[in-house]
Amino acid sequence: MKVWINNNTKSISKKTAEKIKQGVLDIGFELDKKNPDIAISVGGDGTFLKTFHEYRNKVNNVRFLGVHTGHLGFYADWRDFEVDELIKALKNDQNKSIKYPILDVEITFRNGETKKISSLNETIIKRPSQTMRADVILDGEFFEKFRGDGLCFSTPSGSTAYAKSIGGAVIHPKSHVMQMNEIAPINNRVYRSISAPIIVPSTQTVEVILGSEKDYMVNYDTNSQTNCEIKSMKFKLSDQSIKFAQLRDRHFWGRVEHAFLGTNDFL
Ligand code: NAP
Repeated sequence: MKVWINNNTKSISKKTAEKIKQGVLDIGFELDKKNPDIAISVGGDGTFLKTFHEYRNKVNNVRFLGVHTGHLGFYADWRDFEVDELIKALKNDQNKSIKYPILDVEITFRNGETKKISSLNETIIKRPSQTMRADVILDGEFFEKFRGDGLCFSTPSGSTAYAKSIGGAVIHPKSHVMQMNEIAPINNRVYRSISAPIIVPSTQTVEVILGSEKDYMVNYDTNSQTNCEIKSMKFKLSDQSIKFAQLRDRHFWGRVEHAFLGTNDFL
């Protein structure tokens, strides 16, 4: 079994990563940064997102595993003080995994160039300077003329991140859907948009055709691109999924409760 361990710069993450490295070598695993069977992220959900992007093009072959060095994150099943249990679980690994959806986005720039990006949490198109103008085409049909700050397209696992902060629904990651949220939509007698989260099935594409302004910003997970001259963007759930190494049960609603309400002591 080949594994690789990514960590953030916090000293607890570095120490934990070293301990995991030693532990996996002790049970006869190899370290392989290029083609790991399991990519382990040590840090927060942000670190996990970076690990996902590093191996995005290898998701069919890589399983992912998160170790959180702060509170329990949404992408981490393990905590820094559980390394011994984690190594035991890796030794007894039955090659089981659990899949979560990935969002694919195709960007067409004004100069005709195109770029494909993916996100595990969300992709946001916005115009930070002034009102963003966009036509939204839903499953091939004109849906609305949007005016406001921007639009956010999130995966189910990203629904607890930025999307939740702007009024989105929390969606169980077993649901194969994407969510569109408007960011600060303008609604008055002149402009009218749905102003509610829209849940789109995995078979459908949302296209956003932008006004001719030159200062759009695209945020996708921990990445961003500014001052973009974008003509249009297409959003659809990917045919591929991220696979998490399933070494223990993932209880999504328990995590939601723990992260946002904290009333039960279930973890
Ligand atoms: P960041 O500082 O790395 O993350 C901001 C916060 O979002 C952190 O507390 C992070 O948890 C948490 N987070 C990340 N993914 C999550 C998920 N799927 N469910 C629940 N919480 C999650 O910020 P960044 O580098 O700019 O962006 C990374 C992600 O953070 C983005 O994809 C975005 O969704 C989220 N974010 C949210 C807001 C907001 O809610 N207003 C603002 C900026 C960014 P950890 O501490 O475990 O890393």
